[in-house]
This record gives sequence, C-alpha cells and structure tokens, in this order.
Amino acid sequence: MRTVIAGGGLVGLTTAASLQSIGHDVTVLEQAPEVRAAGAGIGLWPNALREFDHIGIGAAVRGMGSEIDTWFFDAAGRPIRAAGSSASDHRFLLVPRPALNSLLADAVGRERIRLDARVAGYTEKESEVVVHLADGEELRADLLIGADGVYSRVRAQLVPGSDPVEHAGHYAWRAIVPAGDERPQGSVLTVGRDRTRGGYARVAAGQTMWMVNQFEAGPLTGNKRERALHRARNLAEAGWHDDLVEMIAATPEDAILENQIMFVPPLPYWTSKRIALIGDAAHGLSPHIAAGGTLGIEDAGVLRAILSAEPHLPQALVQYEAARTARFDDVREHAVAVEQATDAAEFALRYTAFSHWMLTTAPAT
Ligand SMILES: Cc1cc2nc3c(=O)[nH]c(=O)nc-3n(C[C@H](O)[C@H](O)[C@H](O)COP(=O)(O)OP(=O)(O)OC[C@H]3O[C@@H](n4cnc5c(N)ncnc54)[C@H](O)[C@@H]3O)c2cc1C
Repeated sequence: MRTVIAGGGLVGLTTAASLQSIGHDVTVLEQAPEVRAAGAGIGLWPNALREFDHIGIGAAVRGMGSEIDTWFFDAAGRPIRAAGSSASDHRFLLVPRPALNSLLADAVGRERIRLDARVAGYTEKESEVVVHLADGEELRADLLIGADGVYSRVRAQLVPGSDPVEHAGHYAWRAIVPAGDERPQGSVLTVGRDRTRGGYARVAAGQTMWMVNQFEAGPLTGNKRERALHRARNLAEAGWHDDLVEMIAATPEDAILENQIMFVPPLPYWTSKRIALIGDAAHGLSPHIAAGGTLGIEDAGVLRAILSAEPHLPQALVQYEAARTARFDDVREHAVAVEQATDAAEFALRYTAFSHWMLTTAPAT
C-alpha cells in the first residue's frame, strides 16, 4: 500500500510509524522546513503510550517525560480530588513536544519525510489518488491521510465548508522555563476566578512548564507577558501561586506562546474511498480537556488495526470513520460538561469523569 500522509506533526508522524509497522510504503509531506512542534509540553495518557509501545518507542517516550499525578486546586490552594476516583484516573506523562516529534521522525525514518512540501489538493480516482503539491509536483498513492491539523487543506477539499471555528474568548498562554525553587511536584491545575485555569509542572529535568488559560477572556491588552500575568493573578489568593506569578514575570516575552483556541466543528464524514482524516484535521478540540493529541494517537492505532484486518480499503475506511466519530461524539459531550463547570470542585469532578471514561473505554488495538 502506497500511503501519503499530509502533515508531519504529532499525529501524522505517529500514523506514519504505525502504518509502516503493517507494511505500508509511507511518505510524509510536511510544509515546514523542519520537523518541529508548536507548543511547549504535552500531557499523554496511557492510551497514547500503548501505540508508542506498538511502534517501539514507548520506553524512550517515558524516559524523556515526567509522570504527573494531577491535583486540582482552588485559588486559595486547597487541593481537590474528585470523590470516588482512583489514582489511575489522574496520572499522565508530560513530555516536551519538540523532543517527542524528533523521536517520532527518527522512528519513521527521516528519508520518508519530505520537508518544504505543502499539499495543495488531490484528485481521487478509482484506482489511485494523485496528491498535488503547492510547487506543482504530483505524487501517486493508494491512500492519502490528512494529518494536516486544524487548518487542514485535505479536510477543506474532502468536506467543503468545514473551516475551523474560534472558541470565542478562549485563550492559552504557556512557556517552558528553567526550573527554579518552585514546588518540584508542581501545581497541575488550579481553577480560579473569572473562568481562569493554570499552574505549572516539571516537564523534564531542569525544565518547568507553566500555563494559563481563560474562557471568556474579554479584550486583550498589553504584551503577552502582561496578559498572562493578569490571568495568573486570578489563580493567586492569599499567596497561593505567587511562584507562578514570579515565573511568568521572569519569562522573556518571545518565549511565551499565546493562542486563540480554535476547534473543528463535528464533521458529517471523515473519509472517502481513498482519503482519511486523522488527528486535529478530523477533530481539533478545545484543549481544556488536554487530550486532543492522545486521542489523535489513538486514531492512529485504530486505523492501523482496521487496515491490517480488513483488506478492502474503502471498507476499512468506513469502519475507521464509524469507530472514531462515535467516540468523538462522547468526547464532545464530556468537553462541554467540563467547560460549563462553575467552580474548581465541579471542574475536578467533571474532568475526572472524562479521564476515567477515556481510559476505561479506549479501543483495544
Ligand atoms: C494550548 C494547548 C494545549 C494542549 N495540551 C494537550 C495535552 O496536554 N494533551 C493532549 O493530548 N493534547 C493537547 N493539546 C492538543 C494537541 O496539541 C493536538 O491535538 C495535537 O498537537 C494535534 O496533532 P496533529 O498532528 O493532528 O496536528 P498538528 O500538530 O497541528 O500538526 C499538523 C502538521 O501538518 C502540517 N501541515 C499543515 N498543513 C499542511 C499542508 N497543506 N501540507 C503539508 N503539511 C501541512 C503542519 O505544519 C504541522 O506540522 C493541546 C492543544 C493546545 C492548543
């Protein structure tokens, strides 16, 4: 099977390695001049790590990250645990994104990844798909996978009118900074005033990642650091999170990432006979559930398992779409419930219900 993957991000690279493991002849087309990752650290749940075990990099990924035991806090620093939850509902691995994507690129084989290669569109035929690059080159394949993120070019052609949507007023600020004398175990998620969330965690030896998010952020004024600091103060009552405020104040302006959060609306379909969407291209989610990457890696495991069991490609893609759209209907319901939580205790309860559900219903691949 000649498989072309548009997009060499976290999910595209994972999909490439997963499909190579079942014998696909894979080419990854990445528009950027290098394999890189937007963002600081990413929290990965065990359902993602299982696919990394399958492609042989599980131990290396665990070695580069820090295992985090989530505690929720309110703005006074009171720890909150959802009643009835177990330790496994709270445990994830925090991994530096650029190092993870570099490891994945090595697993795929750098010679399989074409950089500066922007997909402009495709022509689907009965016997093959022709992939058109922006520079006019054409590649022929049996299967095209759109792993080209929230602004997917492949999705724009496959599902006309599926532009990403602004999650109105929802912003995220974050950075990785040298670890200082803050609590080494971090404060993973404080839910404070004015719909603000944030905290920090040790992402790797000597490195701490801080993050601040706000729903309904209102007009943004000042530079990125001032905007993040303004929100961080919503998390700091009676001295709790003075350390976070100091950390942000000391972060250079150009090290701070600021995002207007975007999401992909639910799609009527994800596939055709020779095309499949995967990762954020199919289901870009609001990151307040911190699981879009994990669930995209899960997509890769499901697609691999189905393609290795079902020899008829169009039928395999129908099965993949049915399995994943049903799962994401449930994910979206959980995401809305978490977003609508009114205080830290409710947020913890609903988030834990989501993580418990995600972990206990993960597909066996
Ligand atoms: C603030 C924030 C925090 C998050 N935290 C978490 C978390 O803790 N845990 C978690 O699981 N998820 C998290 N997520 C979600 C996670 O980051 C995404 O779900 C994940 O990165 C999606 O990976 P992807 O490969 O599908 O897309 P992307 O990472 O966007 O990769 C797409 C790739 O395609 C390339 N590309 C785009 N267009 C083209 C084209 N036309 N031709 C060729 N290449 C193209 C891009 O250059 C890019 O390399 C978070 C998201 C945000 C915004």
